[in-house]
Amino acid sequence: MNNVDLHQYPDSNGFFGEHGGQLVPDHLRKIMDEICKSYMEIRDSKSFKGELAYLHKYYVGRPSPVYHAKKLSKECGGAQIYLKREDLNHTGAHKINHCLGEALLAKYMKKTKVIAETGAGQHGVALATACALVGIPCEIHMGTIDIKKEHPNVTKMRILGAKVVPVDRGTKTLKDAVDSAFEELLSNPEEYFYAIGSVVGPHPFPMMVRDFQAVVGKESREQFQELTGKLPDYVVACVGGGSNAMGIFSGFLNDIEVKLIGVEPAGLGLDTGKHAATMTKGTKGQIHGFKCYVLQDESGSPLPVYSVASGLDYPGVGPQHCMLKDIERAEYTSATDKECLDMFIRLSRCEGIIPALESSHAVAYAAKLAATLPEDVNILVNLSGRGDKDADFVADKLGI
Ligand SMILES: *Cc1c(COP(=O)(O)O)cnc(C)c1O
Repeated sequence: MNNVDLHQYPDSNGFFGEHGGQLVPDHLRKIMDEICKSYMEIRDSKSFKGELAYLHKYYVGRPSPVYHAKKLSKECGGAQIYLKREDLNHTGAHKINHCLGEALLAKYMKKTKVIAETGAGQHGVALATACALVGIPCEIHMGTIDIKKEHPNVTKMRILGAKVVPVDRGTKTLKDAVDSAFEELLSNPEEYFYAIGSVVGPHPFPMMVRDFQAVVGKESREQFQELTGKLPDYVVACVGGGSNAMGIFSGFLNDIEVKLIGVEPAGLGLDTGKHAATMTKGTKGQIHGFKCYVLQDESGSPLPVYSVASGLDYPGVGPQHCMLKDIERAEYTSATDKECLDMFIRLSRCEGIIPALESSHAVAYAAKLAATLPEDVNILVNLSGRGDKDADFVADKLGI
């Protein structure tokens, strides 16, 4: 593995080892190939790179700082914990990084509408924001149950000018919202652009979303060296679809001395069936147009998934993560709802930083790991988002 450049993936067919690809009907493959071609045209162009760099700095507020959580580290009594503060981005999470890229690409391709589904509404809000800025119509499909549960995000999307399409069939949640958004795309795939919300879906999306998130890893690597004079010993991130983790891992892929750890949601426990730990408990399969590890039943249908952090409950996972697991470049572990909620409160009270429930999984694992290591070891955690969206829910649940 020493000699392999891990930045060369995916191959020209969109595969990361045996994962990924384009498992879609022929007419859709044509559309995906056009997206790939346009993306390749602009990816290294001076004007696109310049525009994205400008927006990163003056719109998103990048670079986000790397912060040494000294008090938390001391409490844990071991290794040093550093946080990459993606929670400080405009809209409060890492998602704006790839939404801006996707909206700009849709505009470049002269598409007339950007479509997406959203579960808890985080992807919807980030995309509606990017589309408002770029100046392209945005349509978000959302289950009616989620619309009730996540009303503040629905309001935000509408204020930002997006059309929210309620999906009142089947589960009335994310799964049927995906189907509904997909049908809308298929009604005019030449003119519409489906903006996928993580490093999942058919090629080129896992590559493209990874590239847009790679800024997190690139900044982190430079900032960490500037702070400490060396690279971190561990890089830890939560994994739902895997975009924030792939973003920060990208900065360290070829530094094999840096251990990469993805933390999945163990929900109520790995043996309860109420979790979304795809890498830990899944088997090789396919979902939404690509090959990856999947939580599935014997017939290959995705199993119901659960996590207290709704941004992490997806029964598939990005193909590049699956490859990193297969070649043992990254390790995947999990944190339970309880560990996540405990850290939500602990980080808030110890450092004055309210983490997103998703990100809280990564910090929870890092704290556990830190306690087993000496003081001169450094752990860098991607704090993928802020917890404002979760504050009322947690306060209710814990009776605060
Ligand atoms: C959506 C979300 C995630 C999960 O998505 P990934 O693609 O796995 O990164 C993690 N953290 C936050 C704050 C999110 O909003």
